[in-house]
Amino acid sequence: MTEQLIDKFNRVVDYVRISVTDRCDFRCVYCMAEDMVFAPRSEILTLEEIQLIAQAFVELGVSKIRLTGGEPLVRKGITQLVAGVSQLPGLNELNMTTNGSQLTQQAAALKQGGLNRLNISLDSLQPEKFKQLTRTGELQTVLDGILYAQAQGFDDIKINSVILKGRNDDEILDLIEFIRAQQLGISFIEEMPLGEIEEHDRALTFMSSAEIREIIAQKYPLVASEETSGGPSRYWHFADGHNSRVGFISPHSHNFCGECNRVRITAQGRLLLCLGNEHSIDLKTVVRHYPGELEPVKQAIREAMDLKPERHHFDLGSEVQILRFMNSTGG
Ligand code: SAM
Ligand code: SF4
Repeated sequence: MTEQLIDKFNRVVDYVRISVTDRCDFRCVYCMAEDMVFAPRSEILTLEEIQLIAQAFVELGVSKIRLTGGEPLVRKGITQLVAGVSQLPGLNELNMTTNGSQLTQQAAALKQGGLNRLNISLDSLQPEKFKQLTRTGELQTVLDGILYAQAQGFDDIKINSVILKGRNDDEILDLIEFIRAQQLGISFIEEMPLGEIEEHDRALTFMSSAEIREIIAQKYPLVASEETSGGPSRYWHFADGHNSRVGFISPHSHNFCGECNRVRITAQGRLLLCLGNEHSIDLKTVVRHYPGELEPVKQAIREAMDLKPERHHFDLGSEVQILRFMNSTGG
C-alpha cells in the first residue's frame, strides 16, 4: 500500500505545486513590483534538490505535480527536470503553468519529456494592454507559443486570466471568443492580495468571479458543471454545446479550503501548507543537511502535515497580511 499524506482535518494531500524559480521575464502588475528583488541563486533549490523533493512526495502518495514559478521556462535545465520528474513511478500527472513567452522554443522538448498539461497565462488580446499588464511581455510571442504548444499534442492546454476592473474587464468576451475559436479551456482567477504592490489598489480593481460570469452569460449562457479538480476551480460549460470549459478560481467569494488537497514548495525550498497563510517549514535546510537522502525529507513532510491550517483568510480591506509575492509562492 502506498503511504498517504493526511492532515489534521482528514484531508488527503496528493497534489504539489513546485515553484522552480522566483525569476520571470515579465513583471505582471498584480504579481510583482516593477523593481522586484529576487533571491540570491544560492538560496534557490537546485534541480537535483527539486527532483529529490518531488520523489519524496510521490513516495508519500502524491500523484499530481505542477511546476510553476516565477516563470518555469526561464529556469535553465527545466526540460531535463521535466524528463526526470515525469519518470517517477506513481506520478499520474505532471503539469506546468507558464506565461507562454518561451513555448515556441521549449514546448516540443516539454512534451517529449513527459509533461501532460499546460496552463498558459493570457490577460489581454490587445498588444498595448498586454504590454501594460505584463510590463515587458509581447503578445504576439505568447500567441505564437500557444499555437505551437497546441500542435505538440499535450493532453490539455488551458488559459489562465486575471481580470482587473477598469483594466481588462472589457476583454472578457474577447478572451471567451478566443478560447472558443482555439478549442481551449479557460480559468478566470480572482486577484489575490499576495505581496505589497503600488501599481494599483487591489480593492478597486477586484472583480469577482460572479461578475465575470454574468458578463459571459449575457452573450454565451453557461451551465454549471459538477466537475472539480479537488481544487479551487469551479467549472461551467457553454449552453450552446461548445466543448470549451470555463473555470472560475474564487479565493474570495468561494471558500474551497474544506476540499484542499494541495501544498506548495517555494523556489527557496519552503513547504507552504496553505496559499493564504504563512504556515510553512524549511525543506531546503533538510535537503542540504542530508544531501541526496530521501528519508529525512519524507519525515519532514509527514510531520509538516499537522501544520496545514483549516482555511485561508484573504481580506482586501485590511493591510496586506501575506507578504510573499505570487512569483515566489508558485501560483
Ligand atoms: N509565470 C507563470 C504564469 O504567469 O503563468 C507561472 C507563475 S504565475 C505566479 C501563476 C499564475 O498566478 C498566473 O496565472 C498568474 O496570472 C497568477 N497570479 C499571479 N499573481 C496573482 C495574484 N496576485 N492574484 C491572482 N493570481 C495571480
Ligand atoms: Fe511572471 Fe507569471 Fe508573475 Fe506574470 S504572473 S510576473 S508571468 S510569474
